[in-house]
Amino acid sequence: MAAKDYKSGVKPVWCPGCGDYGVLLSLTKTLAELQLSPEQVSVISGIGCSSRIPAYLKTFGFHGVHGRALPLATGLKVSRPDQTVIVASGDGDGFSIGGNHFLHACRRNVNLTYIVMDNQLYGMTKGQASPTSAPDWEKGKLTPGGTGINPFHPLVVGLASGANFIARVSGTDANGAVPILKQAIEHPGFSLVHILSPCITYNRDQLEWKKQVRQAPVEATSDPAQAARRLMTDDNLNLGVLYKGNRKPYQPDLKAQVDSLEVLEEQFAV
Ligand code: SF4
Repeated sequence: MAAKDYKSGVKPVWCPGCGDYGVLLSLTKTLAELQLSPEQVSVISGIGCSSRIPAYLKTFGFHGVHGRALPLATGLKVSRPDQTVIVASGDGDGFSIGGNHFLHACRRNVNLTYIVMDNQLYGMTKGQASPTSAPDWEKGKLTPGGTGINPFHPLVVGLASGANFIARVSGTDANGAVPILKQAIEHPGFSLVHILSPCITYNRDQLEWKKQVRQAPVEATSDPAQAARRLMTDDNLNLGVLYKGNRKPYQPDLKAQVDSLEVLEEQFAV
């Protein structure tokens, strides 16, 4: 299988130059590197520009509702552990309305790969501030003068909540993202990949990310305390694998005895 074999015939509706094109390319290249057949892979998303991605892939896919991609994906993975499940989200979808699910998905540590395309705004609804917007970003449609609120730090929160693998890649460097995405998919447990994916329509300044990002100066650590110290001072521009934990993934025993419907009815009778 080559990268092009993972693309569906649906033409993306993203704005020309959107960072999400690079993410789509890196994902198809990663699947080709892993030689996973399309029916072995499910891509689950919520709502937003980035969440359109399942439609552009020839894998199984589900375009869910706002903020709910992680519970959907969790249900799928625990009932079909044979599937490689990739969850796609954006900063608004994943860290605002889906914020609570994010915490508990990290805590549960089901074997999922969570890719979050962060452009620090809501693109689909025309450019409002999101949880990761800089406090002084003045162009937000509802926040002239900026939000004045410190941004959410997804990697710090992910680590504190139990994510087992944490990395950052650039959406504009598809080839650079492939080895990281590959490791994220192969690492057991909940893998969080933070993707800097510029929105060229509502914040053209993000085109500068391409020049500003750098490889993280240190190797990934498996020590959560060391990772916490590094992530707390992270300026959002270090790329690479930043933390590799070794927690056992959660996977219920599907063959375990389940009570019959009659027994359950008795237990819940009022
Ligand atoms: Fe991409 Fe922004 Fe256009 Fe959405 S609005 S498709 S995030 S460039």
